[in-house]
Amino acid sequence: MACIFCEIVQGRIPCAQVYATDTIMAFLDIAPVRPGHVLVIPKAHYPTIEDIPTDLGNELLTAVQRISVAIRRAVDAQGLNVMMNNHRAAGQLVDHAHFHLIPRHEHDGLQLWPQSAYQTPEQMHKIADSIKAAIG
Ligand code: 5GP
Ligand code: ZN
Repeated sequence: MACIFCEIVQGRIPCAQVYATDTIMAFLDIAPVRPGHVLVIPKAHYPTIEDIPTDLGNELLTAVQRISVAIRRAVDAQGLNVMMNNHRAAGQLVDHAHFHLIPRHEHDGLQLWPQSAYQTPEQMHKIADSIKAAIG
């Protein structure tokens, strides 16, 4: 099945590009949470963060930093959220890994997600132990 972001990389679908290297591209999200909402993607098709090779991940983080500073300057934002949806359960709709860079202004009223509480400290530590074990 065709990947919409691969089509954008190949120039077959137009986009408002803000940055590109041999390996990375960044362009405006077509349906922005806020004006200046940018998507940063590897040019090569990797479905999620879990699939991205380490060197490319480092390049992406460097690009995310640089573009974040530029977005804040360009739209005069005081803050910026870096978000990434991985897998359908987390809201990923385009299966080509991408970082969302969303500029934020004081009192803009945007609530990105609600928080909750652990039932007990034991539950919290049990989950931490499971994650540690899975990291190996
Ligand atoms: P996801 O839910 O996968 O994290 O986000 C996919 C994002 O891609 C959405 O915010 C959506 O607005 C954006 N998007 C989908 N199709 C296009 C497109 O053709 N062009 C651009 N610029 N953004 C797109
Ligand atoms: Zn793709």
